[in-house]
Amino acid sequence: MTAQRKQNYDNKKNPESQWFGTKPVNPAEKTRAVLGVFSSVADNYDLMNDLMSMGVHRLWKDKFVRMVRPRPNMDIIDVAGGTGDIAFRMHRATKGQARITVCDINPDMLRVGQDRAVDRGILRGINWVEGNAETLPFADSSFDIYTIAFGLRNVTRIDTALADAYRVLRPGGRFCCLEFSHVPHDTFNRIYQKYSDLLIPQLGQWIANDRDSYQYLIESIRKFPKQDDLSARLKAAGFDAVRHVNLTGGIAAIHIADKY
Ligand code: SAM
Repeated sequence: MTAQRKQNYDNKKNPESQWFGTKPVNPAEKTRAVLGVFSSVADNYDLMNDLMSMGVHRLWKDKFVRMVRPRPNMDIIDVAGGTGDIAFRMHRATKGQARITVCDINPDMLRVGQDRAVDRGILRGINWVEGNAETLPFADSSFDIYTIAFGLRNVTRIDTALADAYRVLRPGGRFCCLEFSHVPHDTFNRIYQKYSDLLIPQLGQWIANDRDSYQYLIESIRKFPKQDDLSARLKAAGFDAVRHVNLTGGIAAIHIADKY
């Protein structure tokens, strides 16, 4: 990172580290609380995604991987990769010929992911590593592609994670983020917010007996930076050619950025 980029980055304050959902916390408490959420939801995580999104998350993930354009022989890291949805798609897209690392802070999510890999007969080509997106356990310039899907929103220090993404990417490498985002259209946004408030915590209660984790889900979505804010923070972390596309009217968005 150049001195100017480092200065820009240091001036950021990781504001999201100060709250968990809508509750004020310190950064260590936030990390612990997020770990607790995903340990609690790990076994129902994939079923709940299908129910809450009525299957739409699969289309978003398919589109994401098409935009990531993974190629055989690439070194790819899927950060906050959880139960492996993105890694499995990239494994398929590269016919098992890319070296894919799933890195996640939560051993319970990784356990479910590894079990799913075995069920699918994927025994090589995906490496499962426990680690924090803020301090990835990999050398500088290790990867051609960095993906993070529905993970950045849960990371305690977003700007620190973006800086570490920049560090582990090779020059010419690409950062790709799929995340819930913000709906600019007023009427559609009102309908979407009503749906979220009425249905998501209730589904969490019925299916997983865990209302609180799904209440956190909708709060964390509302607190996540808007599309342009995230783009600005990617630029501050050192990335170039930052661009995004909205999915389903902005309910989710894909951000892509390059390391020159
Ligand atoms: N990427 C997967 C997907 O799209 O289905 C899982 C997304 S899940 C909503 C969020 C994941 O982020 C969880 O597995 C959680 O453990 C992980 N996570 C949260 N904070 C993290 C951090 N600081 N470093 C790495 N992973 C983190």
